[in-house]
Amino acid sequence: MAIRITRRDLLNGMAIGAGGVLLPAHGVERGMSLYTPASPVVPSNYYPPTLTGMRGSHVGSFEVAHALAWQGQKPASYKSLEEHYDLVVVGAGMSGLAAAWYYLKKAGPEARVLVLDNHDDFGGHAKRNEFNHKGRMLLSLGGAQNLDSPSNYGDVAGSLLIDIGIDEATIAQMAADTPDDCVLGGKLNGDVGLTVPDGDDHLTIGGHWFKFFHGRGDYEAAVRELPLPEDQQDKLLAFFGGEKDFLDDLSLVNKWDYVNNTSYNQFLFDRVGLSRETIPILNAHLLILNGPSGWNHTVLEAIMAGSPGLRAMGWLADFVDSVAAMLIDDLAGDIRMFPDGNASVARLLVQKMIPDVAPGMKGVEDVAITRFDYGALDLTDQAVRIRLNSTAVGVKEVGDKVQVDYVQHGKPCRVTASRCVLACYNNLIPHLCPEMSDAQKEGLGYGERMPFVYANVLLENGEAFSELGVSITQCPYDPFQWVSAAPTMTTGGYEPPRGPEDPMVVFMMASPTPADGTKGTTRDLLRMGRHKIYASTFDDYEQQIREQLQRMLGRHGFDHERDIKAITVNRIPHGYAYWYQGLDDPEWEEGQAPHEIGRQQFGRISIANTDSEVTPLMNAAFDAAYRAVEEQIS
Ligand SMILES: Cc1cc2nc3c(=O)[nH]c(=O)nc-3n(C[C@H](O)[C@H](O)[C@H](O)COP(=O)(O)OP(=O)(O)OC[C@H]3O[C@@H](n4cnc5c(N)ncnc54)[C@H](O)[C@@H]3O)c2cc1C
Repeated sequence: MAIRITRRDLLNGMAIGAGGVLLPAHGVERGMSLYTPASPVVPSNYYPPTLTGMRGSHVGSFEVAHALAWQGQKPASYKSLEEHYDLVVVGAGMSGLAAAWYYLKKAGPEARVLVLDNHDDFGGHAKRNEFNHKGRMLLSLGGAQNLDSPSNYGDVAGSLLIDIGIDEATIAQMAADTPDDCVLGGKLNGDVGLTVPDGDDHLTIGGHWFKFFHGRGDYEAAVRELPLPEDQQDKLLAFFGGEKDFLDDLSLVNKWDYVNNTSYNQFLFDRVGLSRETIPILNAHLLILNGPSGWNHTVLEAIMAGSPGLRAMGWLADFVDSVAAMLIDDLAGDIRMFPDGNASVARLLVQKMIPDVAPGMKGVEDVAITRFDYGALDLTDQAVRIRLNSTAVGVKEVGDKVQVDYVQHGKPCRVTASRCVLACYNNLIPHLCPEMSDAQKEGLGYGERMPFVYANVLLENGEAFSELGVSITQCPYDPFQWVSAAPTMTTGGYEPPRGPEDPMVVFMMASPTPADGTKGTTRDLLRMGRHKIYASTFDDYEQQIREQLQRMLGRHGFDHERDIKAITVNRIPHGYAYWYQGLDDPEWEEGQAPHEIGRQQFGRISIANTDSEVTPLMNAAFDAAYRAVEEQIS
């Protein structure tokens, strides 16, 4: 069922609602940059979190870097700003912001630090999406979601959290502030649905599919509801239930070999007997959690990521219940989320370094609801300056200084620093520093970041969505493979929707990496996913979103034309840092892995960011920042 978009008064995701015109704070038009080249002064209403339409890698953020990386083009000359800093950081993601903080702590408040970022907002992946409708603020995630096991953060990363007010008491309070059905916020005992095509509509089968997948709860009844042939239902039941060892013809050694060298989907196909039409049901989890599908995970990697299968190996049956319990219960105890995800962590850190962005903000208790003054980010006479819309194109050691060239609003500028930390993407660094050795450049160029698309859809009310009976559901056959209510915790002073009659935000997650068994290494497929993102227009996403939501919610009275009030699409072509893949990558000797060769100190230049740790987590971003700063000033 193709849904036609008939109301073309939707401008870049903004709808004209019955109650008045819903405009972002600036009323910018589709695809326009917030500044004009002629006016590099921050307008007083500059507030990127409320912008709708195509966000994430937005128009104006990537063109300069692509010209450099793809065509080797950059400006021939630069205007010297006569600005010298103790440290210039390239990248205002969590790693770059942390590098500025660790440096200040070491060097003292007299230090002068400049942080550059090509986007119109700070935070890197940790981005905030904010809507204001009918007198209510509605928040959601524009990228990085949660504090993943903060109790396991090492001393360095943990100390940063404490510095910005996220201590043990706060972490405990965050759990208390999160409702029991907010699965995204770490309450993994809340129900998780499964949404599948059912004629022209989609059927959402409630219950707790994370548990059903592992043979817990009434999984038999749930599987029997799936519109699948009976023999496929039987196979799923045998697989989830664990009555059968699907590798029983193999010795223990051969089993180990098999689970380390066979793709999860090949196992499902060959051994479990699932058809290619059924397999997507077991892939939605991997796609959103990890990026690639089960064709690019070994059996063991998939199981370690929480996919079903442990019960079907026989040899580990004794541990099944404890492992399943750990996945479902213990893990839930250690995920903490702000209503705008890790954007609040970025905001706490920025406000700590530049208090004038939010002089009245108390801290964790009101971080989610405080409006920031972006005009205060880059003022003279402050220890840290954050300069947005600025793409670094050259970083070079010249004598006892580092010369940093960047382009802001089309203008080539030059500053100098005593040191530089590159907290951007590894792939770009060889283009910024062509003087590096070929071996280092090769190491930096090895990994591919994992692409994602996160969309947020403002609805007039939550009435149809509440009829689903779950706050989150997996949609294996749809472009957005997970759909959830936006976070509903009260952390940070946030007031989530009070009930279905209030406006709500639907949060939709997609992995664009081919999931259909397309051949190629994971890195090849990640590149294809990235190209797909750049080839898709906002209209493409809007069409997909309307179709998907109409199919899911139409049977509950939803009308996409009437009920959708705004859409924000965060495209994240350079997403998770790459980590080594069992099916593709060799086991390198210590010190010889590409990221280890790539991240070596290069004179007055050091390399931070999660790529350098091959770990897409915030604590890794902090650890990398600390290492880079230590290299420069210890
Ligand atoms: C969709 C998604 C969900 C995630 N969820 C979680 C989660 O729940 N928990 C968790 O711990 N982690 C999560 N992560 C991982 C996340 O990547 C890290 O937590 C962390 O935010 C990464 O920080 P970073 O600074 O290394 O990289 P980034 O966030 O990528 O920041 C790098 C910044 O450098 C900028 N840059 C690049 N080149 C240049 C240039 N030439 N000039 C200027 N600036 C440049 C980039 O545009 C970017 O803003 C998630 C990631 C994604 C993509």
